[in-house]
Amino acid sequence: MIKQNNNYLIMKNFTKEKIIAILKDNTQNEWLFSLADEIRKENVGDEVHLRGLIEFSNICKRTCKYCGLRCENKEIDRYRIQPDDIIKYSQKAVEMGYKTIVLQSGEDEYYSCDVMCEIIKGIKNLDVALTLSIGERSFDDYKAFKDAGADRYLLRIETTDKDLYKQMHPYMDFDNRIRCLKDLKTLGYELGTGCLVGLPNQTVESLADDILFFNKIGADMVGIGPFIPHPNTPLKDFKTGDFTLALKVMALTRIIMKDINIPATTAMETLNPNGRIIALQSGANVVMPNVTTREYRAKYEIYPGKICVNEEPSQCRHCIEAKIKSIGRIISKTKGFHKTC
Ligand code: SAH
Repeated sequence: MIKQNNNYLIMKNFTKEKIIAILKDNTQNEWLFSLADEIRKENVGDEVHLRGLIEFSNICKRTCKYCGLRCENKEIDRYRIQPDDIIKYSQKAVEMGYKTIVLQSGEDEYYSCDVMCEIIKGIKNLDVALTLSIGERSFDDYKAFKDAGADRYLLRIETTDKDLYKQMHPYMDFDNRIRCLKDLKTLGYELGTGCLVGLPNQTVESLADDILFFNKIGADMVGIGPFIPHPNTPLKDFKTGDFTLALKVMALTRIIMKDINIPATTAMETLNPNGRIIALQSGANVVMPNVTTREYRAKYEIYPGKICVNEEPSQCRHCIEAKIKSIGRIISKTKGFHKTC
């Protein structure tokens, strides 16, 4: 079914130039998405891994220009979920059938190394895989989290364009982000990274670099999402990222990296009511339903219009399960590690 006569097919090596050409050419999109879907099926099968996402604190010391959690946003109602409650919510997610818990937050120093280790150990007692997504930390912290039982870490590079990175992340250091990713890899985590698509001044050329970067750093998971302007950030008047372009970056990542885990991101569903299903049919094999209780959901507003803010965890589970089954895919019963796929 792969079009034999298509020029792109004969490409063995995806050079930057070739990736740019594909990203710029919108006449072959359907072909690109179906190729990514085939490669997904061949390499990771029809199983979809569900990761239960707990957004446990929206307090953040950073000032990322695109993000609603940035510390300079005074309009947001801040919260922190206490360690015992995080473990309790994880337990509920495990009872619902989740095999992985993802803990995500702003960069909140309240959760010191010791506090995080206590949470990690509590969750690992539940016989579940654990992913952390809590930003930049020291090598020693990452090591302590790993020793306490954390399995995976998500830290998007956001963009590999150093100038753009600097514009988007005041007071942050691109090299430190790379240091974090390398430390995580060295420590044996399954490494998740990814990028935003549609940031102001972002070029297609730099998106091609992003894709090549994911491969070079040896990512086990790659999350790609369109940029969505938040009204209480300096980027409020900029254009929303393009759904199709984000989908193309994701599809190309699947085609190049073949057997990694790729989530159908929530930001995609925010821009298109069927966004996650479209993503699952264009290379993705993971979904991260929200298992945070309703009282906190609307407050974790990294961007506006986030889906499911009025729902409780069990509703999200049932809704996404039905959608996944409706396209002939299977809910995985395994922990869904990259290496054992
Ligand atoms: N503090 C953690 C988690 C950040 S939130 C960390 O630094 O890794 C998770 C992701 O949300 C970010 O990596 C970013 O890519 C995405 N995000 C933030 N603001 C966004 C926006 N306005 N539109 C789309 N995605 C956004």
